[in-house]
Amino acid sequence: NADTALYRAKAQGRNNFQFYAAEMNAHAAERIALTGKLRRALENREFVLHFQPQVDVRTLRIVGAEALIRWHHPQMGLVSPARFIPLAEETGIIVPMGEWVLRNACEQARAWLDGGAAPLRMSVNLSACQFRQEGLAALVARTVQACGLDPALLELELTESMLMEDPNAAIATMHELKAVGVRLSLDDFGTGYSSLNRLKGFPIDALKIDRSFVRDITTDRTDAAITAAVVSLAHSLGLSVIAEGVEEADQFEWLRRQGCDEMQGYHFSPPLPAEEFASLLHTDREET
Ligand code: C2E
Ligand code: MG
Ligand code: MG
Ligand code: MG
Repeated sequence: NADTALYRAKAQGRNNFQFYAAEMNAHAAERIALTGKLRRALENREFVLHFQPQVDVRTLRIVGAEALIRWHHPQMGLVSPARFIPLAEETGIIVPMGEWVLRNACEQARAWLDGGAAPLRMSVNLSACQFRQEGLAALVARTVQACGLDPALLELELTESMLMEDPNAAIATMHELKAVGVRLSLDDFGTGYSSLNRLKGFPIDALKIDRSFVRDITTDRTDAAITAAVVSLAHSLGLSVIAEGVEEADQFEWLRRQGCDEMQGYHFSPPLPAEEFASLLHTDREET
């Protein structure tokens, strides 16, 4: 009857709630544990940078490296940035972590130069939190200076969402960074909501076309049309275009014909530990 039905619904509701609460607790506990490990990771030197080559489409030479953080936890093994970057953002750990990345990337660039390599651009990803930090430009200026690195060789990668949150504040910060002399690029372009029209207001040097467009470029006419439009618009604004996630020769060919300037992806190389990158760089220079 109606009473039993009500009773059952209540009981079920309570069970569902308990189940939900238990799951929430497990999730929260896991996050807390991971946060603790993340906090200790810096002092325990568990982070390492890998470097992915950026290749000039015309010369096929390596012209840049993107620094990508890796976390080797002694028990958990290799933890993906997709898992720990968002957590680092939420907890503010990203600030010291980001400083570490910037410093180490610049030191590595300096070390390759000292080793006799031709000047190479070093790209570093900035997080939203870092981008909002007071004194970012001063930190960047101090870091390149401490490493004796020409600021023109450092590129900072920003994302559309970082710029759209408060476009005026973002533009001011970007101008401060440009005054230091670094390059600015817009990462994962096409995945956010910035209108192409807004681009002209941002003092950026390059657009990185997101790999979700590159993936289907040779099969999906919409992705192809969007990418072709982005390349030509970027060029008309005087920006350089780099395609991310180029995995196949077909994609490379298509992007080359569209006039894309640089490419990055498994077709050329995955991100590599510093020593492996250096030997690739060496081979690259020896070839001609
Ligand atoms: P991102 O900046 O867009 O970096 C490109 C990602 O694509 C890297 O993943 C790279 O390993 C991967 N990738 C490169 N070529 C290919 C390809 O041909 N195919 C496929 N499927 N993937 C490719 P990763 O290293 O796992 O980094 C993921 C994201 O984590 C980065 O995306 C970036 O947003 C963030 N991240 C990584 N390192 C840092 C860092 O030092 N600081 C900050 N703030 N974020 C970072
Ligand atoms: Mg990037
Ligand atoms: Mg990207
Ligand atoms: Mg698609």
